[in-house]
Amino acid sequence: MTRIGILGAAGRMGGAIADVAAELGAEVSGGVDRDGAVIGPFTGASALAEASDVLIDFSVPDALAGHLDAARRHGRPLVIGTTGLGESHQALIDTAATQIPVLQSANMSLGVNVLAALVEQAAARLGPDWDIEIVEMHHRHKIDAPSGTALLLGRAAAAGRGIALYAPAHDRNGKRVEGAIGFASLRGGSVAGDHMVVLASEGERIELGHRAESRAIFARGAVKAALWLSGRGSGRYTMAEMLGL
Ligand code: NAD
Repeated sequence: MTRIGILGAAGRMGGAIADVAAELGAEVSGGVDRDGAVIGPFTGASALAEASDVLIDFSVPDALAGHLDAARRHGRPLVIGTTGLGESHQALIDTAATQIPVLQSANMSLGVNVLAALVEQAAARLGPDWDIEIVEMHHRHKIDAPSGTALLLGRAAAAGRGIALYAPAHDRNGKRVEGAIGFASLRGGSVAGDHMVVLASEGERIELGHRAESRAIFARGAVKAALWLSGRGSGRYTMAEMLGL
């Protein structure tokens, strides 16, 4: 049975992964968080990596470098679900991926990855007179905005339109910039993740959306990604590849 080590094990997603691993035929080897052991005796990422076949990271961007080092030191594949990553983090992932398999995605659900494909297709067929706005809502504890999923959907729209995504897309105090992709973030309560992509033209509007009803969808996607990644060579992989989209 594949042994999965959880990085960020005391968090909401860390707990959700521990809950779903067995139903997908995986075993949780242990879990660590900022202050050490959460599941099992391992006090740090390196000891956890040594005792695991694959690692899943749902923690914070600042922890990523140490988690990549631990995975690399022991030659373990790493699934990264943490969001709010910047260009420097992406460069670290690129370097690590020369030695180990890494799958990073801001959203591990099947639904959002299919939605991204639909958004890309819609944006490719509609001209710049169709304004694209992405609205998302998450629970009150979320630390990054716009959400990693909103940015993933924005990148899909930009790819369809053949432009680069830049943020902020337009100044909310001024007139809308033609062709820009806008973001709005709502925070409150316990919302697991709602996303709506609005494509609006004169006299008509398309709304493509996804609502996550529980964190289990992300946790199952992450565990499936970990099992899939275990058999791969070094390199960077996407959820779209894993899902065969
Ligand atoms: P959370 O705040 O509940 O959990 C994060 C955990 O990371 C906390 O327990 C925290 O103590 C821990 N942590 C902080 N520093 C650490 C360190 N140095 N080493 C190890 N652990 C450390 O947050 P969450 O809701 O579980 O979300 C975690 C991340 O996953 C966020 O970035 C969130 O946006 C992202 N997320 C991604 C997906 C996806 O599908 N990719 C889905 C949901 C959430």
